[in-house]
Amino acid sequence: MVPYLDLKSIKELHSESAEDAVMRVCRSGRYLYGQELMGFESEYASYIGTRNCVGVGNGLDALKLIFRALIETGRIAPGSEVILPSHTFIATELALTWNGLKPVPVETCADNMLIDESQLESHLSDKTSALLLVHLYGRCAYSEKIDHFCKEHDLLLIEDNAQAHGCMYEDRRTGSLGIAAAHSFYPGKNLGAMGDAGAVTTNDDALAAAIRAISNYGGERKYEYDYKGVNSRMDELQAAVLRERLKFLDEDNARRKEIAHALIAGIANPSVKLPSVDERDNVWHIFPVLCSDRAGFMAHLEKCGVGCLIHYPIAIHRQKCYSEYSELSFPVTESICSTEVSLPCNPAMTDEQVQEVISAVNSFSLSL
Ligand SMILES: *Cc1c(COP(=O)(O)O)cnc(C)c1O
Repeated sequence: MVPYLDLKSIKELHSESAEDAVMRVCRSGRYLYGQELMGFESEYASYIGTRNCVGVGNGLDALKLIFRALIETGRIAPGSEVILPSHTFIATELALTWNGLKPVPVETCADNMLIDESQLESHLSDKTSALLLVHLYGRCAYSEKIDHFCKEHDLLLIEDNAQAHGCMYEDRRTGSLGIAAAHSFYPGKNLGAMGDAGAVTTNDDALAAAIRAISNYGGERKYEYDYKGVNSRMDELQAAVLRERLKFLDEDNARRKEIAHALIAGIANPSVKLPSVDERDNVWHIFPVLCSDRAGFMAHLEKCGVGCLIHYPIAIHRQKCYSEYSELSFPVTESICSTEVSLPCNPAMTDEQVQEVISAVNSFSLSL
């Protein structure tokens, strides 16, 4: 048996330290805005390589707060256009529409499943204010081309780093490459809390201060409000757990890479297309393969006792909530959405389980 992701055994990997951390908070009697949040913010900022980290309630809030703060501080115009990949988790796009910004989705590159860099220019308009880059599945989406594109057209770069904690671009980490980055610590992410949590990292002190204020009702000082804010905070329990788990993130990511490379070396099935390996760093949040008979393949894996999931079955422009985009067409995105299967690839897996996944995939045959 290979569960897709067994959070209980993930937890057991580093259980003592996380449990100690929880007890530390229970005994402290301080549940919000205490030592743990301060400690996590400074440790995570130094891990990512930014001057600031602001802990917030979850990853979607982190994204929403970045754009809210960019609008409030006059860095991007209300109602302006933001370029983003058409293939991503719904939260990426929700953060824009919740802020009254116009998402401009771009087709996917079939090789790396990231935003197709060759199609960026054609999506520019005089209203474009920013590029929202997603390091999807754990793979670095930043490149020299992205850097030039943003500089040449005076666009702000915002990163959705929800799936790529610890990923590198040359000697810098993703999450430190643009004006600000959003991180999610949803339990299933590479760095996961025991509930919801998220963070913004940024080198921009004014932006960090605005996000901090907006996430706390809109005021830097209690009962004085500069913005119409929200309540989105990271509590002490989550911060304490994350501080402990952060210590193991590099080790966990190294194991993810080892497993991903073992899967790539071991899987040999012409009906199953493996993810590419290129010069971009990848922390393998998800190990995506493509199969034209997805239903048959998933049924086969289930019969073999191998868990699997789909990321993501319906493209955003095909969702009911975004019916205003239903006339758009992104054939690569749509084809990934109808053929993608995520195989187990996480640090809780044993070498035997990795072999089980390989055997299960290799024993599948397309029924014609
Ligand atoms: C998980 C995720 C989010 C949202 O994070 P939550 O903490 O669940 O709100 C945003 N973007 C991407 C790409 C994600 O995978």
